[in-house]
Amino acid sequence: MDTEATAARIADGDRRALARAITLVESGREDHRAQAIELLEALKRLKRQAIRIGLSGTPGVGKSTFIEAFGCSLTGRGLKVAVLAVDPSSARSGGSILGDKTRMERLSREPGAFIRPSPAQSQLGGVARRSREAIALCEAAGFDVVLIETVGVGQSETVVAEMSDLFVLLLAPAGGDELQGVKRGIMEMADLILVNKADGDLKPAATRTCADYSGALKLLRKRPQDPEGFPKAMLVSALEEEGLEKAWDEMQFLIKWRKENGFLDTIRAEQARYWFREEVRQGLLRQLETGAAKAVMERLGTEVARGEITASQAARTALARIADR
Ligand code: GDP
Repeated sequence: MDTEATAARIADGDRRALARAITLVESGREDHRAQAIELLEALKRLKRQAIRIGLSGTPGVGKSTFIEAFGCSLTGRGLKVAVLAVDPSSARSGGSILGDKTRMERLSREPGAFIRPSPAQSQLGGVARRSREAIALCEAAGFDVVLIETVGVGQSETVVAEMSDLFVLLLAPAGGDELQGVKRGIMEMADLILVNKADGDLKPAATRTCADYSGALKLLRKRPQDPEGFPKAMLVSALEEEGLEKAWDEMQFLIKWRKENGFLDTIRAEQARYWFREEVRQGLLRQLETGAAKAVMERLGTEVARGEITASQAARTALARIADR
C-alpha cells in the first residue's frame, strides 16, 4: 500500500478508499496493523475534527429509526454524516446487526452519508480499537458528524462514551413508574437522554418517563464539563421526526460550550490517554499468552502447584522477569 496516496484519496473524500482503510484497521494481521498505524499517522496531520456522538439504547428502542431520521435531517442541512457501530458479538444474539444499511435505507442513499456495519469480531477490545480508528478515518475524510451506535449491553456503552464528544441515551416510554432499570453508571455517562416514541398513544407515557429522568438527572453530581441544565432529558419521535432539530440544537450548544471552555480538548486528551493505556494493557495481557512470558508463567505456575513456592512470591518473580525483558 502506498500510504501517502491512500491518505490523499481519503482526504479527498474517496468513499472506496475510506471503506478499504476501515477494512485495513479491522484486520488482525501484523503487516496490516503496521500499515494501518502508518496511515493513521499520515492522516493525523490533517487535524480534521468531526462532532463524535455516541448513541446507545436497547434493541427495539428505535436506534435505527432515529439514526435514519436524525442523519437525514443533518444531511439535509448540508452536513456529512458517518455512522459506525460498536457491537460486541455477545450483544448480537437475537438483535439485528448494528449499522446495517437495510435498517437505514433512506440515509444510506444520501450522498452525504456513510454507513459502516460492525465487523464480525468477538472481543470488545478489538472492536473498540477498530471503532476508534474508523472514527479517525472518517474525520480525515471530512465528515462533520460521526454517530457511533451501540446496544445497551455490557460494557459497550462505556467503550462508546470513551470515544465520543457527547453521549446520547435513547429510551422508550416506560409502562409503569419505574426508571426502566437503567443503571446509574450509564445515566451518569449520558449528556442527553432522548425519550423516543413520544407520539400517538405513547405520548403520555413518554412525557411521564421524560419527567422522571429529568428529575433523576438533577440528582446526579454536577460535572465540570456541563453547562447549566445539562445533562438533560428530552422527548423525541423518530417515527414522526419530532424533536430532532431541537435535539441537534442541544447537542451543538453543548459542544460549543465545551469547546469554548476548553473541555472538549481536555475530554479528547483524556480519552487518548485512556486508549493508549488500554492498548498497552491489552498488549501485555496478550504477551502473557505467548513467547517468553508464557514460558516464565508456566514454569513458575508449576512450582506454585507443587507447593515449592508461594503464589505471591511466584507472582513477584514473574513480574520482575517479564519486566526485565
Ligand atoms: P432498534 O432496535 O433500537 O434499532 O429499533 P428500531 O429502530 O428497529 O425500532 C424498533 C421498533 O420501534 C420499530 O417497529 C419502529 O418502527 C418503532 N419505532 C421507532 N421509533 C419510533 C417512534 O418514534 N415512535 C413509534 N411509535 N415507534 C417507533
